[in-house]
Order: sequence, then structure tokens, then C-alpha cells
Amino acid sequence: MELKCTVQKYDWGKKGSESSVAQLIKAANDDIKILEDESYAELWMGTHVNGPSFIKSTGKSLEKYILDNEAVLGNEVSEMYGKSLPFLFKVLSIGKALSIQAHPDKQLAENLHKLQPNIYKDPNHKPEIAIALTNFEALCGFRPVSEIQYFLKIIPEMCIVIGENVAHDFIGTDEANSRIHLQKCMQGLLTHHADSLEGQLLNFLERLSQMDECSREELNASLFEKLHADFPGDVGCFGIYFFNWVTLKPGEALFLAPNEPHAYLSGDCVECMACSDNVVRAGLTPKLKDVPTLIEMLTYKCESGVTKKFNPTRLDDFTQVFRPPIEDFAVAKIEIPPDTMAYNLIPIKSAGILIIIQGTIELSNQSFNKGSVLFIPAYEKINLKILNNNVQTLMFMAFTNI
Ligand SMILES: [Zn+2]
Repeated sequence: MELKCTVQKYDWGKKGSESSVAQLIKAANDDIKILEDESYAELWMGTHVNGPSFIKSTGKSLEKYILDNEAVLGNEVSEMYGKSLPFLFKVLSIGKALSIQAHPDKQLAENLHKLQPNIYKDPNHKPEIAIALTNFEALCGFRPVSEIQYFLKIIPEMCIVIGENVAHDFIGTDEANSRIHLQKCMQGLLTHHADSLEGQLLNFLERLSQMDECSREELNASLFEKLHADFPGDVGCFGIYFFNWVTLKPGEALFLAPNEPHAYLSGDCVECMACSDNVVRAGLTPKLKDVPTLIEMLTYKCESGVTKKFNPTRLDDFTQVFRPPIEDFAVAKIEIPPDTMAYNLIPIKSAGILIIIQGTIELSNQSFNKGSVLFIPAYEKINLKILNNNVQTLMFMAFTNI
């Protein structure tokens, strides 16, 4: 069953036909006209109220269809999650950084929802996985202690914002005692006085502009300058010295566990998450920042960026699965080389949503090309004919991790 999915035009999205989201919806829907000055940020595939999907042939919402045909979810899924899809699947196309954020674990989400239901609208956790479609950049998790200490030593402007004593204590600490000092640094950074922050950001920018190439590279100057141009005066610009700057090649993935700080910076990806909207923001955003909650919840685990990449397991020649350590979702990457005539998808115990990123397939005498999004009932045997044999066929499928 082919779906018609909602596009979110958040202003951080890539513009017009530059955006992977725009390219995908255009390829699958003849009637859509792409406007070059509009942002095409996210394609939502699922039943979330803020951007539901509809069945293309009937116009019925996927949510209603699932309610009327519970068996399509699979028994185990409906026992665990009721009559609804436990995940939301997306394509993201990022022109400008998204906010630095973390998502609560289940217990914290329940507390936050109870205490501040206007801000935290549901009691669910929101782990996320992002799989790169193009070169993809993100900030993810705290850098190793020694790296943060090094940046504090050579960026006095940042120490002033944090509080010089607090920064000095962190510089002097050893690995074993670093956690409390790192927490105080984050507290200092995020609760700074706004006027001194602005001045120090400008002082630092001025100093960067006078440095030689080598020193600029050491300080990730071009990233700092880009972030400051997009978010002038925002404390999140200094965030790049606390969080790992991770670059993914197409097909590589990040899993964002609960309470792990992160920010997507640029590129295109498919993303899957548990059905929730619980975001605690810290910077690079004009939206509400809940600093006390964030300071309290973060893991403060300091590890190098390479440890953040999340590897799939291979099921057969063409299918690999990213299986995070949670039950809400997993994502299969299906890559079929040119000159392959047919492929049988591996049957699964839950409903799935599949998107074609490249290639053309035939299924039940109907052909589907790039950008088509299909809903696949649990236990369904899917025999695909590959129609365009000259190119590699690339598809992603989200399902429940049971
Ligand atoms: Zn996130």
C-alpha cells in the first residue's frame, strides 16, 4: 500500500530542489511542484498527529487503517504498544544546524510529562537513529576529557563565559573526577550572563579571523563561524568544544541513546525514532531551553567521536539491519546491485514502512520508483521484481525491533 506523507517545511531545511526530501516527493508525485525558495526539511512516514500519512489510493489515514485492521501490526506489537505504530520514520535534509538537544529516558519522560505537560506532551522516551544518505555532520556526545581541557586552555573567551574558576577546576581534574566538574562547566556555559556571552563570542571570532590556517583548523574555525553566522550570540556555538564533531559517509549511522547530547549540523539522512516529541534543548535555537533539566539529565560520558558510530548486522547479501538496544524500532538498509532481477524481502513480525531512495521495483503488478513510500503488513511475503537494472536499488525499511 503506497502512502502519501507529510512534508515539514522547518526553516533549517535545505531549500527547493537541493533538498533530498523535495527530490523524493517530486519523483513519487507528478502533481507536486517544488518551490525553490521554500525549505523542505522533513518527510514524516507514520501516524504521528503532527504529520500523519495517508493511504494514496483511498485517502484514508494510516492511523485509521491500522485501527480498523489491527492484525497488520503483528500480534506482539499490538500486545506491547496497543493499536498504534510505535515508531516514526523520517527523511531529513539539513541546511542549517538543528538545536543542541537531548531526549529523556522513559522514567524522566514520565516525570517531565507529569510536572510540565505543556512542554513535555507525552510520557514516552525518544531514542533516535540517523543513517546518512549524503555526507552528514553532527555533534554527538561529550568529547574525551583531555580534548575539552585542551580547548579550555586555549580559548580564554569561553572560560570567561563559563566562569574562570569552574573552567580552571575542570582543566586540573583527572578522568575519574571529571564528571562533577564537567557538569559545572555546562551549568556555567548555559547559565552565563547574556551580555558577557555576546562580547566573548565576538572577541573569539575576531581572534579566529587573524589566525593562520593551521591554528584555525585546530579550533574548527570554519564550523564555529558558520554556526555563529546562523545563530549569532547563541551559546551553542561554544558547544563544538564540548561535543564530538562527527562526520558520517552515506550508509553510516549514529544511535542517540537517552540523555546523550547531540545536534545535527548538515547533510541528508533517514531517521527513525520512538513515537514521542520530548526534546530538551540547550542551544543553537530560538526555542525554549530547559537548562536545569538538561544539566541534570546528561550522561557526561566522555568518549571519542568514533565510538558514536553505530554498525548494522548483515542478514543476507543485500540487507543489513541497524538494531538499537530498544524495542520500539530497527531500520533495514536494502541495497540491490545492478543486474539483479528479483529479491524477496526478509519477512518480519511487525508492520514496516519502506521508502525507495533509488531504483524502480515492481510489486503485485504495480511499479514504484524513487520516493515511493510503502506500508507493509506484518508477516507479509514481499517478492520484488527489479525494473531498472542499470542502477543500484537502495531502500530503507523501519519496523519494530522484536
Ligand atoms: Zn534528537
